[in-house]
Amino acid sequence: MNTDNKDLSVCCANCGKGEEESSSLKACAACKMIKYCSRDCQIAHRPQHKKECKRRAKEMHDEELFKQPPPAEDCPICFERMPTLRPTGSKYQTCCGKVICSGCMHAPVYDSQGNKVAEDKCPFCRAPTPNSQKEHVRRQQRRMKAGDAKAIHNFGCFHRDGTDGCVQSYTKALGLWHRAVELGYFNAYCNIGTAYLHGRGGVEVDKKKAIHYYELAAMKGNVVARHNLGVLDMNACNMVRAVKHFLIAVRSGYTDSLGNIKQLYLNGIATKDDYTKALQYYQEYLGEIKSRQRDEAAAFTDEYRYY
Ligand SMILES: [Zn+2]
Ligand SMILES: [Zn+2]
Ligand SMILES: [Zn+2]
Ligand SMILES: [Zn+2]
Repeated sequence: MNTDNKDLSVCCANCGKGEEESSSLKACAACKMIKYCSRDCQIAHRPQHKKECKRRAKEMHDEELFKQPPPAEDCPICFERMPTLRPTGSKYQTCCGKVICSGCMHAPVYDSQGNKVAEDKCPFCRAPTPNSQKEHVRRQQRRMKAGDAKAIHNFGCFHRDGTDGCVQSYTKALGLWHRAVELGYFNAYCNIGTAYLHGRGGVEVDKKKAIHYYELAAMKGNVVARHNLGVLDMNACNMVRAVKHFLIAVRSGYTDSLGNIKQLYLNGIATKDDYTKALQYYQEYLGEIKSRQRDEAAAFTDEYRYY
């Protein structure tokens, strides 16, 4: 049947049956552009539709991929935007499972009379700070058993590195990261991506899978994965995509991405506009994460540096 003159959003792309003739028009799951009245019609139409379908599916994927992801959660105490990158900018608390910014970790505690008191307690839940590394690990184990996704992810990293009383096992690490992702800790996708990129933990090197996991992480706001995607695109000479990834990472404060955009600009690949934007994004990020409390903490010790 000739479907040329029919509106394909309301009738079967293969046989032309309209919504009034077939109550079960279903959109092509990959591209959502056209509909079919039956599986048979979809199969019959496949050769004709395949190319356009793939093109559109890729387009939709990229639209999602290059959206600016939401920023990291605010610090639960001072409600300022959390520094994304420096591990010293925030700390995971093994008592309550909260991640606290360096400023709040260091901030002095006052009693009801306004006198400074020396307190060795979690600034969020007031549990006493673990008095040994062993106790710290034990608490984290407890959180892992209770299903805390971040603790599970951390244990994955301990197994990767063979630290914190864990035997070095990349296979174990990979298993824990998958578990963390299932429980909603999406940063773990980034480590899974790296496992595939280098073929670790019993998986074969698989660049496609590495990119897939990096993309999942990046879309959830992981800046390391975003930066890595930029580097992979850069190495494959996909410069437009590379710059897009780097710009998104810079907005979350990733200085390596800023450095790469600068280099690409100096090499005549990125535009002046790209570089100007990158500098502006980085300043905006700094403006959002800077606080007096965090500056005081950073001035006190390098262990609280946050940008
Ligand atoms: Zn049909
Ligand atoms: Zn399609
Ligand atoms: Zn804070
Ligand atoms: Zn706590």
